[in-house]
Amino acid sequence: MSRESTLGASREQTLGVLGSGQLGRMFVQAAQAMGFKAIVFDPEAQTEDALSPAAQVSDGFLNAMFTDTVALQSLATQCFAVTTEFENVPAQALAYLAQAVPNVHVSPKASAVRIAQDRVLEKAHFASCGVATAPYCVIEGEADIARVPVDFYPAILKTARMGYDGKGQVTVNKAAELQAAWDGLSRAVCVLEKRLPLASECSVLLARSKDGATIHWPVQRNVHVNGILATTEVACPADAVEALRDKNLHESLIAAAKSIATGLDYVGVLCIEFFILADGSWVVNEMAPRPHNSGHVTMNGSSMSQFEAQVRVAAGLPVVEPRQHSSCVMLNLLGDVWFDGEQSAEPREPDWARVLALGSGAVGVHLHLYGKSDARRGRKMGHINITAQKLGTAWQTAALIQQLLR
Ligand code: ADP
Ligand code: MG
Repeated sequence: MSRESTLGASREQTLGVLGSGQLGRMFVQAAQAMGFKAIVFDPEAQTEDALSPAAQVSDGFLNAMFTDTVALQSLATQCFAVTTEFENVPAQALAYLAQAVPNVHVSPKASAVRIAQDRVLEKAHFASCGVATAPYCVIEGEADIARVPVDFYPAILKTARMGYDGKGQVTVNKAAELQAAWDGLSRAVCVLEKRLPLASECSVLLARSKDGATIHWPVQRNVHVNGILATTEVACPADAVEALRDKNLHESLIAAAKSIATGLDYVGVLCIEFFILADGSWVVNEMAPRPHNSGHVTMNGSSMSQFEAQVRVAAGLPVVEPRQHSSCVMLNLLGDVWFDGEQSAEPREPDWARVLALGSGAVGVHLHLYGKSDARRGRKMGHINITAQKLGTAWQTAALIQQLLR
């Protein structure tokens, strides 16, 4: 595809998105469903036979570096609003866009993204909102290593920037391993976090409009395997037992999430991850200034998906309280299920017909694939949402699907 493949649509109808992965794809699809055109901006070169997930569906594509101000200017002249699907877009790109052309609405703001993309700033922000984190030390130099308390281990060393899906993280079991672990992360600025005994993990997804109106979806419960999200579940009010199970906990997580968003004067979709500990206490883990993998449950369980909310906020449309009409289990589809066991080298398409046949009547089975032709182990290829009134019913079908795909 050429460096610039943009469109003739009017600026007032066109939204821009920075980043070109699956989150961008689903944003573009939501934008198009509401009558908008969408332009994707991404540094990765596109070829006709290997288009990125978002470029496959977008109306236009700009292939340029996030630091290319001429290209950013071009995006801003073609779109009335720009958002991001990728949290590691340099905050400067958002700041530049916001002043590139009068009347281009940029969400989220550069100031919020700058904080969310740096674990050190992020943890300081959580503290300023009165929300506790896991104990941590900032590691910037040899002296910081020497200062770590001896009883701090086991711990996890995480690069302050650019980490995702457990990448840029190393477990450090004892003091003697810290130096080598830090060397292994190229001595980048890091945070060393105490490894906590997690009872569970939750996330709160919210959307906040320019005027400060904030809505949220019900608390999601997440299971990670090897640092990558594997499943998310959420209960709808009709499943009263499940929906009320952790009512007090959920209320406090939602209150914390809202104060974190308000403290950033956040505009857009924000997802905040929490760790729940065995004694029922909790700490905040991290936040994503964009739709989130765990929020994919909103695509079929809620009256408003996180991508529709992102479109609404970006376009300055009303963001209204969503209704959780179904309980939902999301199964992430990693490239691993394209392979027959550990040994097999050749990927093959999973048997979607058998999977889809499991949804009927009271149980919905919804397949979402991201258009990635090249299946690799650990690569996010898609997800399946299983909906039902009762969470337990959704899980019964989810378990059958997991068996089929194993
Ligand atoms: P990423 O940016 O890769 O999502 P996270 O900090 O969220 O990084 O870590 C990924 C996963 O690793 C978490 O969801 C959790 O399962 C585990 N993890 C991270 N930090 C801790 C910790 N301090 N204690 C226990 N488990 C952790
Ligand atoms: Mg995380």
